[in-house]
Order: sequence, then C-alpha cells, then structure tokens
Amino acid sequence: MSERRFEGTGVTPLSGVGTVRWYDQSVELPDPPAPESVDTDAERDRFEDARAEARDQLQAERERAAEAVGESEAEILDAHVQFLEDPQIVSGVEDAIDGGLPAEHAVEEGFADAIETLAAAGGKMAERTDDLRDIRDRLFRILSDTETVDLADVPEGTVVLAEMVTPSDTAKLDPERVAGFATAKGGRTSHAAIFARSIGIPAVVGVGESLFEIEDGAEVVVDGIEGIVILDPDEETRERASGGRDVEIRTEPVATEDGTEIEVAANLGTLAELDGAAAQGADGIGLFRSEFLFLDRESPPEEDEQFETYVEALDAFPDGRVVVRTLDVGGDKPIPYLEQPEEDNPFLGVRGIRRSLSFDDELFRTQLRALLRAAGVGEGTLSVMFPLVSTVEEVESALATVEEVSDVLDDEDVTHGRPELGVMIETPAAVLMGPELAECLDFFSIGTNDLTQYVMAADRENDDVADLHDPRHPAVLRAIDRSVQAAHAGDAWIGMCGEMAGNPEVTELLVGLGLDELSMSAVTIPDVKANVEATDDETARRVAQRALAATTKSEVIETLSDTQ
Ligand code: PEP
Ligand code: MG
Repeated sequence: MSERRFEGTGVTPLSGVGTVRWYDQSVELPDPPAPESVDTDAERDRFEDARAEARDQLQAERERAAEAVGESEAEILDAHVQFLEDPQIVSGVEDAIDGGLPAEHAVEEGFADAIETLAAAGGKMAERTDDLRDIRDRLFRILSDTETVDLADVPEGTVVLAEMVTPSDTAKLDPERVAGFATAKGGRTSHAAIFARSIGIPAVVGVGESLFEIEDGAEVVVDGIEGIVILDPDEETRERASGGRDVEIRTEPVATEDGTEIEVAANLGTLAELDGAAAQGADGIGLFRSEFLFLDRESPPEEDEQFETYVEALDAFPDGRVVVRTLDVGGDKPIPYLEQPEEDNPFLGVRGIRRSLSFDDELFRTQLRALLRAAGVGEGTLSVMFPLVSTVEEVESALATVEEVSDVLDDEDVTHGRPELGVMIETPAAVLMGPELAECLDFFSIGTNDLTQYVMAADRENDDVADLHDPRHPAVLRAIDRSVQAAHAGDAWIGMCGEMAGNPEVTELLVGLGLDELSMSAVTIPDVKANVEATDDETARRVAQRALAATTKSEVIETLSDTQ
C-alpha cells in the first residue's frame, strides 16, 4: 500500500507513529417529544444533576491538568465552570424546560443564544464559543449517558484524530501513551496547540475535511515538524518518525569545533515548561513569552505573582540567563480583559511595545517592578527585552520608564537589580536602525516569525503565503546579517528566538552569520546543540556568505543542502 499525505499545520516539532483512534464528542439528539408529555420538574432535576456531574468531571480534569501542564493552563478549565454557573445560560435552559423541552433539547436551546452572542462579538471572544460548545456537549453526553473514548486511558501508541480537540480534551492526553494527535480544524495558536507544545505531543492541526478519510485502526505518522499526517507509512517513514529523537542530551554549554561558544536556550510561556527545558539541556531561557501569564484569566497577574514567577525561572538556571520579554499583546494575541481598539489591520496596529507605552502603561510599570525586583534576588542573570520595536524613541521611552521604576523602588527601599536590557528585532525599521539601537542596549534577539512577516509582507498565519513567509528568503537573511553587524559593532550580543533558531538544518548558517545565542522550543535543543558542536567556523562563514549572495530562496536551499 502506498503512503498518503494529508497536509496541515505542525504545532509541535516532534513526530510520532501509531494507530488511529477517532475521538468524536458529538451527540445526535432525537426529535423532542410533544411538550405536554414532558415532566418539567423531573427535567429540571435531570439538568441540575447533569450540572453537578459536569462540575465534578471538570474539577478532576483541572487537577490533572494542573499537575501535567501547570496552573495557568489548568485555569482554562475554570472558564468552563463559569459557563456552567452563568445565570443567563442556566435560566435560558430552565425557561426552555418550562416551555416543554426535555433537558438535553433545553441545553441545546439555552446554549445556542450564548454561542450566537459570543460569535457575533468576533475576535478572541468568538474563540470562546469553542469553550461553550465544549461544556454544552459535555452536558449532552451526561444527559444521554453516551460512552466516549476516555482520552486519559487510551492504549499506548494511539494517534487521536478528531474534528477539533478542546483544551479539556488535550489536558487529558498522556504523552506516554499518545503518539500524536491531528485535527481537521484549529490553528497554531489555538489552546489545544499550546497544550500540545507544553506537554510535548506531536500534533498537526487544521488538516481540513480530508482527515475524515482516515479510518479508525489505520496506521499513521503525525509529523509535527513538516505539518503532515502520513497514512500507511512505509518502513522508512515509520522509522524516521519513531526514531528521530534518539539524540544525546548535552547539559553543558556547547561550542563549535573551533571553540566559538553558542548559547542554546529554550523558549517558554509557563513555568510548567521549565523542567522540560532543563531536561533537554537548555543553557537558559532565551524567550520567556510573558503574555502567557496574562492569558486565560479574568484579570492581569499582580506584581507579586509575576515576581515569584520570574524568580522561579531565574533560580532554575543559576548559571544561565533568562530573557523575559515584556507583555506582547495585540496582533494575533489579544487578551479579552485588556482594552483593544477595533483595528482593520491588527498586525500593523497597536501591538507589542506600542501598547506598553500607551494604554498599558500601568501594566508595563507593574511588570517592570516585578522584573527589577526579580533581578535583585533571582540566581541566574535576568535580561529584559521589548517586543515589536520600530523607533529609537520607543526604546528611549522604555528605558526611561525602567529608570523611573528603579527610582521608585530605591525610594521605597525595595531590593532590586539592574537586568540587561534589549529589544526584539522584528521589524524592518529595527533592522535599519540597528546601529543606533545597539548603542543604547545590551542585546538584540531576532524574532524571525514577525521579522519574516514584515520583511516579506506575508502574514505569518496565512497558509496561502506560507512560501513567502520563510526566513530562508535572501531578503530575510540579509536583514539578519545587518542586525548581527550592528549589534557587534555596538558591543551588544545578539540571539535569535523566532522559529528559525530551532531548525537544525540552518544551525551552521546561523553560526556562520555570527549569532551568539539561539533560543527555541525545548524539544529541538539536543539536535541544535549537536549541530553546533559539529560546525567548523570557516565553513559556516562560507555557507553564510554564499546564502547572503543568493538571489532566490531556492539558491539558499541549494547552498544549505550542499553542505548537509
Ligand atoms: C517572533 O516574532 O519571532 C517571536 C519570537 O515572537 P512571537 O512568535 O511570540 O510573536
Ligand atoms: Mg513576535
């Protein structure tokens, strides 16, 4: 039998092979009986009992999620409990029962209004309709006594396929048993994708309708690196998928054959990922996406909560560096409880540092207080960087705010320190102003996800322009080169924390371009460290020169493959 490939979006840089188990949570409701035959009191009791059971289930799943992936992810499930208690939804269901519907049909009707209202709100609010459907379907299943696959208890080597998995579904997946999952719907930034990355399960999302052609019991490879599901894999594909992680973990810092040290660090969003980062041999944290501390909750974390989080990260790497990026919201990352202007073009709107210097000024100061305090007591070296910078004035304002916060802490006699200060290089403007920026900063970190988007004018989330959104285009490489030159001329160090840094196929090129640090999802650290050790400086520089002289992306790819 020959292989068949189904393309989607890879969300975890891992691959796995296993046997398909379809997970279908939908419940078909029969037509409702005549209203006069419905015992209203009995149906109200059934609804109450179902809510109580749903509450118990969610509590148990929450505890499991907190243990597996951490408290802030587990809080996603709190939103489900809130929907279960929402007086408007509950009274909508009760009114429908009083109108003569059995409990399950009344749940359908009561939730339909709430789903419609959230969907009409658009943006991040609309994403919460998935949570509402999730809790509605849970009530359906309880009321109709429907058996479904218990995701927490699937046989080892299972690949879960589903139209869509919810956060609560993903929290149940046990990486020891689940070889991967793939969904017809969903995107890279969905909650399910975030969970999958945190717990290290190979995952491909957004495959589309064709996924339904794969049957229960089939053998598949889930390749989260390429973003494909391969049905009936041949021996070679299977071996590649299952054997790809057989690489030595290097817990010490690494250097090239000629002794050039390259720091290899981890990107993370939550403390739950700290252990995984250390286990893969991270030298430190090169990108702590602090916005994850602000997601999936009703209000921002207080100063003390942030302070403790940063200190814990610093203590986990006593000899290393932890680079915390200040709150990066807007664009693809709205936070529902923060003011967000209606924007036709949010990727070109008020995002990153632009927000911190305008309507998030208070939040910015609170975060800086927590960071400066953490710098004073945490064991490792703290570095703080600002996202989406495009002007020197923005950096001057951010640095002035750091000084003001530091002065206030001095006045209050609160212990604090001075972190290294840097910016993300994510806009063509930051590249072009590199020499001036380097003069007032300690470091740069290149965010190739956004830099590629803005250099190539290609939306990072749009599959139709994925070919353009590729950092191997010579224009992006030249932007990287220019940034490295500017940083080094200004005595600043320069790292890279966009997805490109974690691609082992370009490690030699990045070393040749002169990057001092590479930061990535923890799972790719061992491969990148191995490649750094195998790099010869002179060859790497030649590869970089040839890539920079290339006219097309194909030429760059050819240059890279010549040296593999
Ligand atoms: C980037 O833009 O490359 C980056 C690392 O930031 P994020 O992906 O969080 O926007
Ligand atoms: Mg970015």
